[in-house]
Amino acid sequence: MKIAILSRNPKLYSTRRLVEAGKARGHDVDIINTLWCYMDITRNRPAVRYKGAELPHYDAVIPRVGASVTFYGTAVVRQFEMMGTFSINESVAISRSRDKLRSLQLLSRRNVGLPRTGFANKSSNIRDVIKTVGGAPVVIKLLEGTQGIGVVLAETNKAAESVIEAFMGLKANILVQEFIKEAGGADIRCFVVGNRVVAAMKRQGAEGEFRSNLHRGGSAELVKLTKEERETAVKAARVMGLNLCGVDILQSNHGPVVMEVNSTPGLEGIEMATGKDVGDMIYQFIEKTAKPHRTRTRGKG
Ligand code: ADP
Ligand code: MG
Repeated sequence: MKIAILSRNPKLYSTRRLVEAGKARGHDVDIINTLWCYMDITRNRPAVRYKGAELPHYDAVIPRVGASVTFYGTAVVRQFEMMGTFSINESVAISRSRDKLRSLQLLSRRNVGLPRTGFANKSSNIRDVIKTVGGAPVVIKLLEGTQGIGVVLAETNKAAESVIEAFMGLKANILVQEFIKEAGGADIRCFVVGNRVVAAMKRQGAEGEFRSNLHRGGSAELVKLTKEERETAVKAARVMGLNLCGVDILQSNHGPVVMEVNSTPGLEGIEMATGKDVGDMIYQFIEKTAKPHRTRTRGKG
């Protein structure tokens, strides 16, 4: 098959591995820089232009759209969808996953286990929001943060109120969430491809750190999931409409709770920790699923 990886950086481990894994399965794989794509959106026959010429037809694209380029990146993915190219993650699902509040609302509606979470705009409602999620300690999150930046633990109600007030003063959108203390600074990354968790790792935050992000010095090891954890991850991916994603779960004393769903999960951490060839499984899924105009929303949403 002819497959394009939409990525801004060919040197990234994930991009390199995806090229390698695709070639190993006999595919013709190109890296296309998302931001270099441009298009005439009014033409009858949609196309994507690149470096002065029209791109050839691709059977499938693997979008690796970073959080900082979501807006333009999803427009490019949408254009491919309109051309009938299969995108492993559709544009609408990528946009959805980038907004933590929207994601949690969708998951909650379908009864996926979540930490108790509140959201408010007016500072006069802060106290009540803190109360409704169970009171301090609480975690306060910027809606569009990544890699642990913008995630704060407030140990007391007073601290929570002042942090929330400060964020609101800066016009930042935030979530207030029950702190899952019993997770012990660890979380589980479930790597989902299609309807299956193909690899899972437990990430432990550095000493004294409640955030387990590998970018913040966390470490990772292979973990065996319980049936409930596995089902929670698969259901979360399905509700989000993502075929390829990382579902992050906390082990709470009220069962597994989903913290977030990442539509561009990195391959390095998971392949190192589990020794699994995740790249190969991504192509197996594409081979099985990719058909012209297979994207559910066909770029309309
Ligand atoms: P980011 O998108 O920046 O990674 P997350 O929501 O994943 O933000 O939070 C970063 C880390 O903080 C998580 O990996 C987890 O270890 C910790 N964390 C986040 N929310 C909670 C919570 N409600 N209870 C306990 N730990 C949490
Ligand atoms: Mg995270």
